[in-house]
Amino acid sequence: MIYRDKHICNTFGLEAVADLYIEYCSVEELSLDFARAREPFLHVGGGSNLLFASPRFEGTVFHNACNAIEVISQDADSVLVRVGGGVVWDFFVEWCVTRGWYGAENLSLIPGEVGAAAVQNIGAYGAEVKDIIESVETFDIDTGSERVFSREECRYGYRSSFFKTPEGRRFFVIAVVMRLSFKPVFNLSYGTLKQLPQEKLSLKGIREHIVATRQAKLPDPAEIGSAGSFFMNPVVPQTKFEELLAEYPDMPHYPAEGGVKLSAGWMIDRCGLKGIRRGNAGVYEKQALVLVNLGGATAEEILALAQEVIDVVNAKFGVTLHPEAQIVV
Ligand SMILES: Cc1cc2nc3c(=O)[nH]c(=O)nc-3n(C[C@H](O)[C@H](O)[C@H](O)COP(=O)(O)OP(=O)(O)OC[C@H]3O[C@@H](n4cnc5c(N)ncnc54)[C@H](O)[C@@H]3O)c2cc1C
Repeated sequence: MIYRDKHICNTFGLEAVADLYIEYCSVEELSLDFARAREPFLHVGGGSNLLFASPRFEGTVFHNACNAIEVISQDADSVLVRVGGGVVWDFFVEWCVTRGWYGAENLSLIPGEVGAAAVQNIGAYGAEVKDIIESVETFDIDTGSERVFSREECRYGYRSSFFKTPEGRRFFVIAVVMRLSFKPVFNLSYGTLKQLPQEKLSLKGIREHIVATRQAKLPDPAEIGSAGSFFMNPVVPQTKFEELLAEYPDMPHYPAEGGVKLSAGWMIDRCGLKGIRRGNAGVYEKQALVLVNLGGATAEEILALAQEVIDVVNAKFGVTLHPEAQIVV
């Protein structure tokens, strides 16, 4: 399906209109409609990690509407499912929980679609989607052919993958193959999950706990515009971390590849920025990592606030924060 001048859905609630918008339900449909597309290209999911810097996207926006979930195979321990890239991520999590299949529950209530989840390597409560991904089916817009990536080929890291690199952008995610376990393999390594009472230790109990916790501390995109965590948690070298820890002994930190991961939210909070308001943009009062549209904010206001946060954190800690949200120019 091809649309002209179509609004692009985004959870920041910003005005964004695409010159051309192609929504496809199959590779065949995408291949056919692709002939009409003109650059620049942008593939969107639910728009929950995008900030449109300009109200008009003068190019072609693609959206995957492949919504099927099918069981491919199963053995005594696990089941393999193929999930269309257009399936709403949390619908899939609930679908797994209802069937008693383990692996996706810690990622409950993360906004967005399955295709983007595999691009972003979404994560929460000590889990990442890469932990259950077996392979990712894609369409290569340069060659017009399909290509399947194994998990290793996806080169997953913290909120990153091959698909987010300049070479990887030409692959549109059509479907994702995931393995869920029949055996209780709870991941209770993170925060409040550690204190979950015995009677709540079930798939349903964990999902309910996570949904309630997220609803209490994160803005509901239907009410307050945001892109979730606006900044990534920075990873600093060991020597820099030791310097910081000597000055801030209560600084949260986690082991990470290439150094030590710090909490961007904690740093923003320590700079006294939590809850500040600049025009119609603000730092969310319950979670400093989240920038919010308090109603009618412009992209300029949000970007200026983001820069202010980066500058203040850098001046205090000597650490540069980088946006997690993709800024579409
Ligand atoms: C309130 C809130 C809470 C959030 N909490 C979390 C959290 O706990 N953990 C977390 O990891 N994230 C979180 N996020 C961020 C967001 O939910 C994820 O990044 C999600 O994966 C984005 O999905 P989307 O479908 O909205 O993708 P979009 O925002 O539309 O796109 C994200 C990226 O994926 C690309 N993309 C999308 N679909 C495809 C496709 N089919 N093929 C190729 N590229 C594609 C886009 O080009 C873009 O680069 C949160 C966001 C909000 C608003």
